[in-house]
Amino acid sequence: MERSINHIVREGTFSREEIVQMLRSRGEEHAALLALAGEIKREQVGNKVYLRGLVEYSNRCAKNCLYCGIRGGNRRVRRYTMDDEEVIEAARYARAAGYASLVIQGGEITSPARSRAITRLLHGINEATGGSLGITLSLGEQSRRTLDEWKRAGARRYLLRVETSNPELYARVHPANARHGFKARVDALRCLRELGYQVGTGCMIGLPFQTLDDLAGDLLFFREIDADMIGMGPYVEHDETPLYRYRDALPSPAERLELALKMIAILRVMMKDINIVAATAMQALDKTGREKALKAGANIVMPNITPVKYRAGYLLYQNKPCVNEEAEQCKTCLDARVRLAGDEIAYGEWGDSRHFARKREGDSPARVLLTTRDT
Ligand code: SAH
Ligand code: SF4
Repeated sequence: MERSINHIVREGTFSREEIVQMLRSRGEEHAALLALAGEIKREQVGNKVYLRGLVEYSNRCAKNCLYCGIRGGNRRVRRYTMDDEEVIEAARYARAAGYASLVIQGGEITSPARSRAITRLLHGINEATGGSLGITLSLGEQSRRTLDEWKRAGARRYLLRVETSNPELYARVHPANARHGFKARVDALRCLRELGYQVGTGCMIGLPFQTLDDLAGDLLFFREIDADMIGMGPYVEHDETPLYRYRDALPSPAERLELALKMIAILRVMMKDINIVAATAMQALDKTGREKALKAGANIVMPNITPVKYRAGYLLYQNKPCVNEEAEQCKTCLDARVRLAGDEIAYGEWGDSRHFARKREGDSPARVLLTTRDT
């Protein structure tokens, strides 16, 4: 017998079947789920939205993920890597704008030269901003040695989406070789945790061949690895990728957006005190997608602060928003949008995951779950 969403949330077990039931919810039940997640967010993490200035550092990538517009095999992309000075300038901008946190993201390059370049950059940013920025890296799978070096050089957080927690689906959306293996992805996540990073992961929603059961598995995976931050968003097709041929079999943009909102809401009721990103891809499907994500439980936004001249070179998917907007325009627009969602931007605050802080204070993950469940 199906139980009500309120009942499921109160019980707090979140079995795979219950999560699928919530993902299927429609009409009033759907609205109730989103409202409940919004309430839990306000109770647990407040109505503050933390900003992470996103620097799209380089579109050079040695990988060939079948969904991604900047995959190494896409010859149409003009490749770039930002100069140190350009990144440092963006970091200065982030500090002056009160963003307090920075994400350096790029394709996966594992050479010793790239490893040294990032270490140098981390030192450069910290010097230029007096260590005032919380730095997140998102540069794909790297060796333990490199990740350790970057941690010591000042990186605090790392974002590495598992993309999908179903190994079979993972294999269908990646080339068939060890470099693109599922196990390597999960091992890299474990390594990040062991090195003391705040670990961010996530998935794409609405991938070809993906089922509701897969998505329920993703949410359970996030809980199992005890993630501190989740960035998940709709899959958006790109015509220069192999997966484009399945575009007609995809759920409509509206359906993908709705599914993504449900995923955020369910995640918020399952993992109450983590940071959840309102992904830019939500905005690619719906102009107010990010605001909807904030209402459904997200509390992080990543405004793009990449110099405009590089933005067209970093099209992971089509219809990426804000490709022609200067950082300053993004800031004004964002302020208004966040208010529209009933939230407030927490300027000047790092906004580390409460979940991470609680674990540091000695609460085991299980206890955190139990205590939050009681409230
Ligand atoms: N190279 C790094 C970081 C850059 S890619 C990495 O892969 O981890 C950042 C994220 O973009 C990926 O994790 C993936 O989830 C997302 N992405 C790539 N192609 C996409 C698409 N077509 N639609 C939606 N998200 C996409
Ligand atoms: Fe490279 Fe990341 Fe795109 Fe995969 S998703 S091709 S690793 S940039």
